[in-house]
Amino acid sequence: MPKIAVIDIDNTLWDFASVLYEEILKVNPLMPTPDKWICWDFWKEYLTIEKFYSIINKIHFRQDCFGVFPDAQDFLKKLKAFNYHIVVASHRQEESKEATLKWLLKHNLPFDELHLSSDKTVLFPCCSIVVDDSPYILEKAQKMNITATGLEFPWNKDNGFKLFKSLSEIIQFLSSLDYSKEKNK
Ligand SMILES: [Mg+2]
Repeated sequence: MPKIAVIDIDNTLWDFASVLYEEILKVNPLMPTPDKWICWDFWKEYLTIEKFYSIINKIHFRQDCFGVFPDAQDFLKKLKAFNYHIVVASHRQEESKEATLKWLLKHNLPFDELHLSSDKTVLFPCCSIVVDDSPYILEKAQKMNITATGLEFPWNKDNGFKLFKSLSEIIQFLSSLDYSKEKNK
């Protein structure tokens, strides 16, 4: 059976934070820049939960207008080469599926399944690795003994997670794990 990799979208495959920042600024010009977002709930002082989610939905509904990190395609290709079944999983509304699919295809991002819901952790019992920037998701994965890693940001660093500066570094880390498992067989 192939190993399952659960791969996040926002701030994992593309620079969501920069677009989010620009959109929040339109509502509240006092919003600090993303390098100051040192906790997951950074936005709570600056806008209501309704406004926050309406901005996020608005971005997700036009996902196909945005780019990807330069090494995103190569990262997913290499995961495929390592024989992972790739589930691209994002906390977003089902209605954003069309735009999200268009975006995946537009950028030639290889994947096997697309999971959009408010709780991607339902995928965890069957998966081997999780790549995500959310400290809550990484913590939950770690507790279930799943290899959990992601890109490093102010909101997830210094919490003991295995984080990297680029997807290329993440794939190197994952391949070294695969190599050591093979060696110890
Ligand atoms: Mg994310």
